[in-house]
Amino acid sequence: MSRRIHARRTEGIDKNVWVEFTQLAADYKAVNLGQGFPDFSPPKFVQEAFCDAVNGGAQMHQYTRAFGHPRLVQSLATFFSRVTGHEIDPLEDVLVTVGAYQALFCAFQALIDEGDEVIIVEPFFDCYQTMVKMVGGKEVYVPLRPKVEGSLSSADWTLSAEELASKFTPRTKAIVINTPNNPLGKVYKTEELQMIADLCIKHDVLCISDEVYEWLTYDGNKHVKIASLPGMWERTITIGSGGKTFSATGWKVGWVISSGHIIKHMKTIFQNCVYHCPTAAQEAVARAFEREYELFGSPESYFQQLPAMLHHRRGKLASCLQSVGLQPIMPEGGYFMIVDISSVKVDFNDDSTKDESYDYRFVKWLTKEKGLATIPVSAFYSPEHAKEFDKYIRFCFVKEEATLDAAEQILRKWRQGK
Ligand code: PMP
Ligand code: GLN
Repeated sequence: MSRRIHARRTEGIDKNVWVEFTQLAADYKAVNLGQGFPDFSPPKFVQEAFCDAVNGGAQMHQYTRAFGHPRLVQSLATFFSRVTGHEIDPLEDVLVTVGAYQALFCAFQALIDEGDEVIIVEPFFDCYQTMVKMVGGKEVYVPLRPKVEGSLSSADWTLSAEELASKFTPRTKAIVINTPNNPLGKVYKTEELQMIADLCIKHDVLCISDEVYEWLTYDGNKHVKIASLPGMWERTITIGSGGKTFSATGWKVGWVISSGHIIKHMKTIFQNCVYHCPTAAQEAVARAFEREYELFGSPESYFQQLPAMLHHRRGKLASCLQSVGLQPIMPEGGYFMIVDISSVKVDFNDDSTKDESYDYRFVKWLTKEKGLATIPVSAFYSPEHAKEFDKYIRFCFVKEEATLDAAEQILRKWRQGK
């Protein structure tokens, strides 16, 4: 064909950090602290929920309701009505999607027009940027910055209220936030969310709140839903993930909870693309939520057990990194930890990466030469701020103890010059 094949919207977004670095880790059979997925099975009750769903009769293998399997929208509405104190209508206020990814996709497709500005807080989960580009929106970036030199905690990273306020214009349609944040692990405090909420209300702007790590907070930090602040329910799109909630990232069940007058536009996009996500996986997530509803707040709840386990693994990874002279920023939530590598001197000796940023070169070197996979943090920044933050790499700690031990051995050997 001599004519241009691709649509313009595919231009400039063909590189993808997950595709590239997941393949690199596989090619070099590296110990993988890169991509964010548990390398252990979901708990038994979650696996059983899936088996029971698959064995649950003919209808479990056929189409279900378009916008969410009835049992799942009901269990999400019941569960989150209790958490938020807001009466959530299962049929109007909930949309079940193919992972949180598709929830985000439907939000941008349904709510952002060409030329609309979308404020994105950095560091950000990379697809916010590309999804805004695909609809012809204009990304406007504002970074969280460490307010102390040599920051040791994600709590030190804050938004400047003046800087954020200066980003709102008459064209601003939405702001995207992510708490607990990937990759930093920041858990926004109520006052910080209130500052964002005040600006959204003042400028009549939507808030897309990605809360896929909502159950993972440590050291007494509490996850707060911006939708629960006064005046925010009717303008907030809250996104969750069954994969992150129940350690089953391959199931790809996600959801949106919002006011029906917003959800209805997302339904329009949704019914014209995938129509619904797999019935048995939805049934399984519904069953798992029903169990959690019964056990909520008790020590048997998975929403208590998973953070307790990860708190331990976070400590293990942090001590290992410190013992080899690497300084982590301790995350208040989520399952990632970023590490300052500016003091590490490495001769990359790799011409194939010479035009890439420092963290990309470093991660490739660590994967290829030492067999340990991580993720470069500048992937979570806009081109205008990437250079400022290209001396950090991200480690994932939702991994087996044995995987963390294997990573520790690699780091020790390297630092001892072996
Ligand atoms: N948002 C964030 C912040 C993520 O880290 C991820 C990756 N799990 C997603 C959304 C996408 O989630 P899912 O796997 O449910 O599509
Ligand atoms: N959300 C996961 C992470 O941050 C991975 C997403 C993906 O692989 N596309 O590691």
